[in-house]
Amino acid sequence: MSTPLPVESRQTSNVFHGALETLETAAAVGKIRPSVVQLLTSPRRILEMRLPITMDDGTLRVFTAYRVHYCDALGPARDGTRIRAGLGIDELKALALFMTIKHAVAHLPAGGAKGGIVADPDQLSRGELERLCRSFIRHLEPKGPWADVPGADIGTSAVTMGWMLDEYEQIMGLHSPAAINDKPPILGGSLGGAEATGRGVFLTILAMANRMGLDVSTSSAAVQGFGQVGGTVARLLHQTGCRVVAVSDIHGGVWSDAGLDIGALESHARDGGRLVEFTGAKRVSNDDVLVSECEILIPAAVQSVVHRKNAKDVRAILIAEGANGPVTPEAERELLDRGVTIIPDVVANCGSAIVCQFERAQGLTGSRWSLGKVNRRLERAIVGCLEETASAAGEMQTRSLRHAAWANALKRIEEAMLFRGWI
Ligand code: NAD
Repeated sequence: MSTPLPVESRQTSNVFHGALETLETAAAVGKIRPSVVQLLTSPRRILEMRLPITMDDGTLRVFTAYRVHYCDALGPARDGTRIRAGLGIDELKALALFMTIKHAVAHLPAGGAKGGIVADPDQLSRGELERLCRSFIRHLEPKGPWADVPGADIGTSAVTMGWMLDEYEQIMGLHSPAAINDKPPILGGSLGGAEATGRGVFLTILAMANRMGLDVSTSSAAVQGFGQVGGTVARLLHQTGCRVVAVSDIHGGVWSDAGLDIGALESHARDGGRLVEFTGAKRVSNDDVLVSECEILIPAAVQSVVHRKNAKDVRAILIAEGANGPVTPEAERELLDRGVTIIPDVVANCGSAIVCQFERAQGLTGSRWSLGKVNRRLERAIVGCLEETASAAGEMQTRSLRHAAWANALKRIEEAMLFRGWI
């Protein structure tokens, strides 16, 4: 008898199947040629690597790493590098497909990629992590800004991207800031990059709420995940006057009907505290946060958290997907039937993809943009994506903004494939 997969592996494997299901449905909605779907049901190429690392105690460990180039019809393959124990290839394939679509949704001249190393960064010393990141770049042999541009993701940060950029530049013997994204500003990273996704999610909530006649400043919200994305959304919502009634991290969450003090929770988390240890609010589980009594729900932690079993208990009327794939296709059907509006991940969380394009533009031209310029352009771009998606949903007569966004993206990819003579 085969051993059942751990829950996380099942979820990540499902997320790729879910992505392919969305691809097929959206292709039907957008009347996309079958040859495009055929080309997009698997990545263009996958590189699998073995990284030998000398650990601090002198022993040798060999880590597995991957880079998935999903589709580069619209431009150079681009996006994050995930370091996570138990990382699987299906997870990376799904994320690389999401990036392909996300770049197309945002009108960015970029293809979709994702890379990763199977390792628990918390179990590595700083030196071991640095050697691993440098080894990843040496084995990847990146060909520069016009081929494949790795960025950050879970388990990587501006610091790790700084090491990767340095390794690349040492190998090439030149400066090439556009070769790596999400690096520290002093090395050419964009101002506003760290907050871009959370700010983008917040801006799409404001724009959609406006369309729905919902006043965010008098509404309530719940946020799952209190990291770079969830923490930023919670703070920006709180600043508008919105009552943020529940937030959680991996250990659980806190709830207060009167609204939480997000500033105090941020300081608590910055000092290394778990949210459940925060005094002055009721402890709740991660699952409770998703079904909190509130108008706006932001799942901003991991994939597949709103599923067939709990979808009926979700009370929110507007869901903004901060994480990638947090609502399964089955749950989405149930929620749409109940009239819930879902801002899909490829629109809601494409803020970092947009600011990575700004980072690239600055890197290629040797210029520096002010934070005001970055945020103004981000707002224009992401609200434009939301509005375009909402109009397309009307024209295509679909209730699903996800299908409309994907269909729009697929049309652009189809056109690029046609002009390239691929189909
Ligand atoms: P992060 O590591 O900064 O924060 C993640 C948060 O989620 C933490 O509070 C963590 O404790 C919590 N968490 C982790 N596992 C959880 C679980 N199983 N249940 C509940 N909470 C859990 O990560 P982030 O950068 O904020 O990214 C959050 C999500 O958004 C990820 O899925 C990521 O892929 C996606 N995303 C991030 C960006 C970005 O620019 N950071 C862009 C697009 C999508």
